[in-house]
Amino acid sequence: MKIYPSLVIPETLAAGPGPGNTDPRVLEAFAKTGVADHMQADVLRGMKEAKFMLRDLWGTKNVYTYGVAGTGFSGLDCVLSLILPGDKVVAFPNGTFSGIDSLTIRMKASTAEELAADSMNPKPASVTIVETPHGQSVSGETIDKALAQHKPMWAFMAHWETGSGRINDLKGFSDACLKHGVMGICDAVSSLGVGDFNIDDYPGIVAWASCPQKGVLSLPLTYAPVSFTDKAIEMVKKRGCRTYVHHPVLDARHWGIVDGKDVEAPAYHQTHSCYAVAAFHEALRIILSYGRARKASDYKYHEAALRQAVEAMGCEVTSNMPSLVVLNLPGKLAGKEKELVQGARAKGFGIWPTLSEPVQVRIGILNQLSPEQITEIVSRFADAMLEMGAEFDKNNVLNSLKGYYAKAA
Ligand SMILES: *Cc1c(COP(=O)(O)O)cnc(C)c1O
Repeated sequence: MKIYPSLVIPETLAAGPGPGNTDPRVLEAFAKTGVADHMQADVLRGMKEAKFMLRDLWGTKNVYTYGVAGTGFSGLDCVLSLILPGDKVVAFPNGTFSGIDSLTIRMKASTAEELAADSMNPKPASVTIVETPHGQSVSGETIDKALAQHKPMWAFMAHWETGSGRINDLKGFSDACLKHGVMGICDAVSSLGVGDFNIDDYPGIVAWASCPQKGVLSLPLTYAPVSFTDKAIEMVKKRGCRTYVHHPVLDARHWGIVDGKDVEAPAYHQTHSCYAVAAFHEALRIILSYGRARKASDYKYHEAALRQAVEAMGCEVTSNMPSLVVLNLPGKLAGKEKELVQGARAKGFGIWPTLSEPVQVRIGILNQLSPEQITEIVSRFADAMLEMGAEFDKNNVLNSLKGYYAKAA
């Protein structure tokens, strides 16, 4: 038997697509919470308050809006469990995460025979995958054409695809779903808490999933927000779904949502953590008091600063998301993306490569919304580039950045 030394994990600068740097107030709420069981009055009150704050953050009157314990893919598993074997689905992936979501969809829509034929990568006849290349956005036109042709029951798209850093056409998706009588499902993992949008403005979409660790900034394993329209919940009630823990109707009970109404007395679903509830509650308080619109415009403002700085280092930016830049290194360093990222990560500067082809570098600014924090990221990235043999004057880059902020001030 070996007992290992106690685990020490250092502070790093999380400058990737996610997780973002957790706000110290969230960690404090997590750590100072007393042990209390999952039916204790303040834990239940915290869940109900969090549910109401989540509706404000997401701009929705959907009663079935709450958190699924776990990560982004836990919330996605919950919303994608609407899909039953044999259901006709069209999915529109354009990068790593919507690609994984499409795999989930193929698993859920497969018949028993289709699943057994290739269990890790099933290809059910009822699912059509319409791929948009990495680095491009899914367009309303592509969606409209595919839904007109295939007339599915469900359609799926990621709002912002974090793998390639692209914003997809949410209005085009919702409009096409309405036009063709299709129920839309959306992965909003990286847009909630970063973008300024109301999900009720997109009535073609019946189910949404997000995550705790990106725009919501509540990593200490908390809750993946989900939201369902009444239509989606009616479908679940009528047809059922093949999960207990991620059941859209049953899971909602612990948040005080029963028979389509907010109720005073929640019902047990699973053992929720008092620490997680307190952390999630604090994270939502922080975003709402900062202001969703202000936060969204701050992200755009600082993303533009980072974009200009990496372009001044000779990089080519191919993304259009406000929390992230995805870039190609200058010609001389092409092919060294992974090496550069590894070198940076070894020094506690947590940037990322893309996880699917083509290999690019991703630098994120979640919860880094100040000139000082962006300057630190730019400076560290410049060092990593120079070490690999890039040719530019770091002082020039930092002076231009200073100029950008001075002009704006
Ligand atoms: C990060 C991400 C996910 C996965 O979230 P986890 O918290 O890692 O489970 C899914 N979809 C998108 C668009 C993401 O950005």
